[in-house]
Amino acid sequence: MKKFIKYLLLAVIILFLIYSILIRQPAFQDKLLEIAIEKIAIPAPYLPEEDALTAVVCGSRSPINDPNRAEACILVQAGDKIFIFDTGNGSAQNLNDWNTPWNRVKGIFYTHLHSDHISDIGQFHMGTWVAGQRDSKLKVYGPEGVQMLTDGIELAYTKDYIFRNEHHGDELAPLDVVGFDTHTIDLENPILVNDGNLKITAYSVSHDPVDPALGYRIDYKGRSISISGDTIYDQNLVNNSKNVDVLFHESMSLELLDIINKQAKRIGNVVAEIVTVDILDYHTPILDVVKAANEANVKHLVFYHHLPAPRNQLMEDIMYRGVDEVMAEWTASHDGTMVILPINSDEINISSVN
Ligand SMILES: [Zn+2]
Ligand SMILES: [Zn+2]
Repeated sequence: MKKFIKYLLLAVIILFLIYSILIRQPAFQDKLLEIAIEKIAIPAPYLPEEDALTAVVCGSRSPINDPNRAEACILVQAGDKIFIFDTGNGSAQNLNDWNTPWNRVKGIFYTHLHSDHISDIGQFHMGTWVAGQRDSKLKVYGPEGVQMLTDGIELAYTKDYIFRNEHHGDELAPLDVVGFDTHTIDLENPILVNDGNLKITAYSVSHDPVDPALGYRIDYKGRSISISGDTIYDQNLVNNSKNVDVLFHESMSLELLDIINKQAKRIGNVVAEIVTVDILDYHTPILDVVKAANEANVKHLVFYHHLPAPRNQLMEDIMYRGVDEVMAEWTASHDGTMVILPINSDEINISSVN
């Protein structure tokens, strides 16, 4: 046995020496990089290839900062089509990091026009245009005011669009599909997509003074998801989320905000002291979220848009105290939480892309 360990050690040392010599050789260095680039160029897909309704949290935080999370964003894949619900700060970078197939993004849906839900719109345009090679302008749906948002972005990016077209040409950066195809949602006609298999429906929520503020319900081949956007407890959300497989709901911890408020007061941080009180009247305390989910007979509840985002297990434990007693199936999401709902099944598979 001792002899075996001796030979093994010798072999490891010899292999290490060979590697140390090889890694300095240009031909070996080039070969290693070739392999690495091939892996980047042909990334392993993170979205399921099976026929399913899938959702990935591409941004799980609210405006309250967290270095490891992006602001509000949920990617939904129905079959092979991808839709994005809100584009908060950092969400486009997440999707780039995960090698999202931009060419399959068919539209963006905004819940409301707060900055933490819209700020990456320019990056989503760029990703679907040059990298994604879309064949039409980027479809955007949102509440009243969304046209101002897309007009403003088009104006701000006018020079960028022209420079990229001049440099890359019409094949890579075609000007006829640059910009947005914007749809202002009229809640008298709330069904926005309906192709027989996939239905996307907008519904109103209460985020006063943000009005209108919307939630969305997505139905695909018998599976279903509802997305709250920002809201207080709202009976209309309950009605529109009836019997869904998964409800993605914003999440506010009264306990954590109270602790932050007291500490802010103690150290003289006036902004944090005011904000932690101001936000209380237009978001939903966690136990009210659970109440809404249970009333809607939701099978699985996913918390996102955390106020504040828990930075460790202790914070998460304090934040979600009492939820287990009233809700059987729930998840506190982070960036990358993925929910797969295969068709012809009632499975709800929760995993993570990172
Ligand atoms: Zn928000
Ligand atoms: Zn908001």
